[in-house]
Amino acid sequence: MNPERYNNNSQTNPRKRPLVEEPNNDKQPITLNSMVVAIDHSNLFYTVCSICEKTLPEPSPNTHISNSSSSSSSSIPFCKNCNFNSASSGSKRLFRVLMSIATEKRVVVVIMFDRAARVLFGCSADEFFDFAKTHPFAAASAGNALEGEMLKITLSQPKNGNARHLRVVSVFPLRTGFQPVIETLRELYRARGGS
Ligand SMILES: [Zn+2]
Repeated sequence: MNPERYNNNSQTNPRKRPLVEEPNNDKQPITLNSMVVAIDHSNLFYTVCSICEKTLPEPSPNTHISNSSSSSSSSIPFCKNCNFNSASSGSKRLFRVLMSIATEKRVVVVIMFDRAARVLFGCSADEFFDFAKTHPFAAASAGNALEGEMLKITLSQPKNGNARHLRVVSVFPLRTGFQPVIETLRELYRARGGS
């Protein structure tokens, strides 16, 4: 994986780079081996507009209850960017996973977005969400399945100044026989005789 791909600024204008070579100022992505300590399985996704992929507000959980009048219209996520009403399948979920990893030196919390998370989950966020609808403990089980997993992980500093966590640029499972979470869960629920 080439981390430069994710850094549009330096690609479009290489002259912005300082002429004097600086010592490691922590702006370069770093690659290290780590172990998964835990993931925050209570909040694995966010919702985006399927057209422009801008983040949408979470749909109100009581949308389906208040269908008596037009009062539900306020709870339908609406993309302000392209003026698209996302109620008609115009939205999709992407992974956004907070994960604690242990490196040689310390435990850090990192944030993993869709591209990297798919490597570990083995499916799209929408597919996982659908699976979790019929398997209520799927998210917690996913956390259990990933705990202790050894990963070669590339981290970058957040580009957004408000972001607090190092961002996972790429992830590579080190264990021989690693299988994505969705495969593990399907086997697990099959073995339990669940639906
Ligand atoms: Zn949009």
